[in-house]
Amino acid sequence: MSKLVIHQIPCLSDNYGYLIHDPEADTTATIDTPEVGPIEASLKTHGWELTHILNTHHHYDHAGGNLELQEKTGCAIIGPRDEADKIPGIEKEVGDGDTFLFGTHEVRVIGVPGHTLGHIAYYFEEEGVAFVGDALFALGCGRVFEGTPDQMWSSLEKLMALPDETTVYCAHEYTQANAKFAATIEPGNPELATRIAEIDKLRARGEPTVPTTIGLERKTNPFVRPSSDEIQKTVGLSGASAAAIFTEVRHRKDNF
Ligand code: ZN
Ligand code: FE
Repeated sequence: MSKLVIHQIPCLSDNYGYLIHDPEADTTATIDTPEVGPIEASLKTHGWELTHILNTHHHYDHAGGNLELQEKTGCAIIGPRDEADKIPGIEKEVGDGDTFLFGTHEVRVIGVPGHTLGHIAYYFEEEGVAFVGDALFALGCGRVFEGTPDQMWSSLEKLMALPDETTVYCAHEYTQANAKFAATIEPGNPELATRIAEIDKLRARGEPTVPTTIGLERKTNPFVRPSSDEIQKTVGLSGASAAAIFTEVRHRKDNF
């Protein structure tokens, strides 16, 4: 099995698109279709032909380029079963626990509803890589638009159960804004302070703060740290359930 080649593509104002390429099978997928132009340009630069689209959820900045890319390349579109009616051009529907092959690589689908009801993540276990769309961000998580906070919390728990070394590719560069909020929720976390300083340096140079890792989020992301005494105190819910603490942190971010 050859190594998966991953290329990150800035799209729109703050989205990231991803091309993944399996050299052995000569297959290339785009994770979501935020913007056709930059995706096509990157395919051309690499000399790759698009064979697949893997959609995480139905929002326009994730599936808006589906039909144009399908028309131009004849690629297959794989996407979430639970919102298949909203995914343009979908051919193969997948859901939580399903596995399929991308070239020589096995992909496991993880259902992560909350942001949307059918949102899925794509996990390449052997590569230690997860594409999480708008479910989890660096120091943040997606807004709960369609599901409930409890559902979103369960989804984040599933992602946090992946190994610490897992590289997490999220779909937006929201990290600096997330960091400002995180600093108000857990100001006494030294690892968070260190991370924020690094984020500010990267952004000052115009560099991405994505990907992240499960381990780094576990240590610093206020949305997945309900067991932190400081966070419990900040939100006034000491001893409450993890889901309740998550819900309050999410609520505060929505009003931040
Ligand atoms: Zn979205
Ligand atoms: Fe998005």
